[in-house]
Amino acid sequence: MARPVQYNTNEKIPSDKTNLKETPDGYSGEGFALSTLDKIVGVGRANSLWPLPFATSCCGIEFMATMGSNYDLARFGSERMGFTPRQCDVLLVAGTIAKKMAPILRQVYLQMAEPRWVVAIGACACTGGIFDSYSVLQGIDQVIPVDVYVSGCPPRPEAILDGVMSIQHLVKNESMRRRNSDQYKALLEEYGIQ
Ligand code: SF4
Repeated sequence: MARPVQYNTNEKIPSDKTNLKETPDGYSGEGFALSTLDKIVGVGRANSLWPLPFATSCCGIEFMATMGSNYDLARFGSERMGFTPRQCDVLLVAGTIAKKMAPILRQVYLQMAEPRWVVAIGACACTGGIFDSYSVLQGIDQVIPVDVYVSGCPPRPEAILDGVMSIQHLVKNESMRRRNSDQYKALLEEYGIQ
């Protein structure tokens, strides 16, 4: 009797349906593509982000769901979670950050090499959320610069994916030299970072 579910059917994908990554802006034709170095490096970086999850509470559980097979962050080239700041380029802060934890978060950020990006996931990481108390940091942007804020308490995995896609958009479109710009240096100086 035939099995009701079929695996590995090896169905051929028509060549016109093949899902290729978009080429960076520029000139392209049969077998060639021309673009700027900024754009090419940007596409490479955006599709191979290595996240460092800094998850402290309920939002961390939503992040776990985002990593699971249903939402599958791996589809965005970001499945390689790193728990060492020296190898990661996106800091994903999910959860309530107590003031006592703030120096640790800052230290983790400082240990990451440039280029690095930061996503604040959920109301607590963005603003302190419902914990308007003496012990809770009222937003991680009080200690480190943040690139993308994901709202919600908790945010759905779709919102977290949207945050990662916003970082990808930023990475693809920022100049490789942004880190050397006066504006960026001034931003870090505001946080007392050299
Ligand atoms: S934003 Fe809501 S769900 Fe996320 S850590 Fe804070 S209280 Fe928990």
